[in-house]
Amino acid sequence: AQKRYAGLRDLPAASLCGETVQLYMNAGLMADLPSLQNSGAEGVGLFRTELQFLTRTHVPRRRELAQLYSHVLDSALGRPVMFRTLDIGSDKVLPYMKPQDEPNPAMGWRAIRVGLDKTGVLKMQLQALIRAAVGRPLYVMFPFVAEMSEFEDAYRILMESVAREQRLGHGMPTDLRVGAMIETPSMAYAPKRFFEMCDFISIGGNDLKQFFFAADRENERVRRRYDTLSAPYLTFLELILARCAEAEVPVSFCGEDAGRPIEAVTFAALGFRRLSMRPASIGPVKHLIRRVNLQALRAQIDDARDRGISNLRPVITDWLARQ
Ligand code: PEP
Ligand code: MG
Repeated sequence: AQKRYAGLRDLPAASLCGETVQLYMNAGLMADLPSLQNSGAEGVGLFRTELQFLTRTHVPRRRELAQLYSHVLDSALGRPVMFRTLDIGSDKVLPYMKPQDEPNPAMGWRAIRVGLDKTGVLKMQLQALIRAAVGRPLYVMFPFVAEMSEFEDAYRILMESVAREQRLGHGMPTDLRVGAMIETPSMAYAPKRFFEMCDFISIGGNDLKQFFFAADRENERVRRRYDTLSAPYLTFLELILARCAEAEVPVSFCGEDAGRPIEAVTFAALGFRRLSMRPASIGPVKHLIRRVNLQALRAQIDDARDRGISNLRPVITDWLARQ
């Protein structure tokens, strides 16, 4: 399949109406990095740092992590890499972490909640990132932020880490951009200041969708029951887009849906200009975006919603089939 789309690699994901969508890839291991070149991705929109913690038998040391992150940046050849701080708990349990007996781990002690309660590991990881990025830009994002104060606290810890590095006389990244992942519906209603504080926002659609519909992403029985292409969910995503636009903060959608061509083209029609997906999806998504007039698709979606249609999938697929 990669071969089939190879001809598209250096072409932009530009729609027939002239809108360009930036396609980024998701990664989590060094082995993923060669895909950056092969897929033609603009950068890594989501680097899941927990994978490197999961494949070890002990908490990695700061020096070891800094080296790893530095290799990641080297392999990215100047393209941006958005490092997401540890998202452990829920479906990602570290072998050397005391198992938590939680009835609902996905809604439990995970991600930034762990980072803010046990700041040692978060600080160590942030220092490793800062050291790895000396002399180049650094993008850091915090996962599973459910309240503005959590972002503020994580932001403060990051700034303290920067100050500490400066005090120690270490070099600095040339630029530091700080982002939050929106994975809970609460953040769509966060104060405007939250959006203004963020340099970028990334929607974690896998989690956001499970909490929007209250349907466990790991539970085969209910996982596919609710469709991404439903009017309520798309309307909700539009609200987040509007909040980001109001604060002029760039937003990307990362999560499995961004790599599904029909979903991806729908997100683009709603107004998303950045999507991050597994590398193998970049070709198929780009192929479809280049064949579609996003404004016309948008008009179809709006019209169907005005007519009170909730399940938009048949509307969208039928329209796409006629293009
Ligand atoms: C998501 O929730 O959509 C996401 C990108 O993060 P993860 O799948 O790692 O939870
Ligand atoms: Mg998530």
